[in-house]
Amino acid sequence: MRKPIIAGNWKMFKTVSEAESFFSEVKGKAEVEGVESVICAPFTALPALVQAAKGTSIAIGAQNLHFEDSGAYTGEVSGIMLKELGVKYVIIGHSERRAYFAETDEIVNKKVHAAFRHGLTPIVCVGEKLEEREAGQTKDVCKTQTVAAFQGLSAEQAAEVVIAYEPIWAIGTGKSSTAADAQDVIGYIRGIVASLYGETTASAVRIQYGGSVKPNNVAEYMREADIDGALVGGASLEPASYIALVEGA
Ligand code: 13P
Repeated sequence: MRKPIIAGNWKMFKTVSEAESFFSEVKGKAEVEGVESVICAPFTALPALVQAAKGTSIAIGAQNLHFEDSGAYTGEVSGIMLKELGVKYVIIGHSERRAYFAETDEIVNKKVHAAFRHGLTPIVCVGEKLEEREAGQTKDVCKTQTVAAFQGLSAEQAAEVVIAYEPIWAIGTGKSSTAADAQDVIGYIRGIVASLYGETTASAVRIQYGGSVKPNNVAEYMREADIDGALVGGASLEPASYIALVEGA
């Protein structure tokens, strides 16, 4: 059985001291038997969070990495650096990075390989824009992005990937996908993985829904057969809300 995974994506929020104070409030509470709890923080807060999370069941993740291991890439952070810190997860291909930092499917794929080179688990984001949804292209977009992200991965690596289906029109808008619609797309994405690697691998891959997930709707998504968790932005920033999300899963 797949272990449910709730991941908070803090985006560009929280200083080191704010992150430490958040963690002291969720420690021992956002820890529920049978649910994986992950906090994906800005780079600057990662060392303090990794220290604070020692001895807890909460994993720490980054929100990006460079696809090269080192080099003249001013401002970038590599997988080697994250691994040494003790980071376990890394979000790759978030729609904000695709939109504002020109990340293509090819770059996303290179970053997925970089994560595996250094023992980091990628959380790969896919999802359609509003106009793509309205044009009936949701599944095509998710297929293209998923196939590209998995290019060149072994079946063992593929089984480890966490996919986050995040319809872009639902991010930060309060307009969430219905659980049934999210299940429809996520079931389809699992089918794409099955067509690439077979049923055994596809049934091991965890697929999250993301986009305006809140403590009051997380359980609806979790009831769906193919939805294994949530990637949460806004509602992961307050300790009480984050605890409720993990409990709700
Ligand atoms: P919100 O939960 O704020 O809609 O953000 C979703 C998201 O982008 C998580 O990666």
